[in-house]
Amino acid sequence: MVWLQNKKRKKPDKTPNNIPKADMLGYETCVVCGRKTATPKTRPLSRRQYYVEGCGQLCEGCYVELFL
Ligand SMILES: [Zn+2]
Repeated sequence: MVWLQNKKRKKPDKTPNNIPKADMLGYETCVVCGRKTATPKTRPLSRRQYYVEGCGQLCEGCYVELFL
């Protein structure tokens, strides 16, 4: 469990240090935290949730944090 020791959570910041290979899975990644979202890449932008124009796809958590 080395990664647990190296990864001391000093700040509650969302750092994209472990970006999942969402491209291969066909889902968008959150532009803020780098995590996989529940939004398929094939979904039209107009029908997406948590998509911010000029910014990109956000996950629900980041969207709520930033915009609500
Ligand atoms: Zn996020």
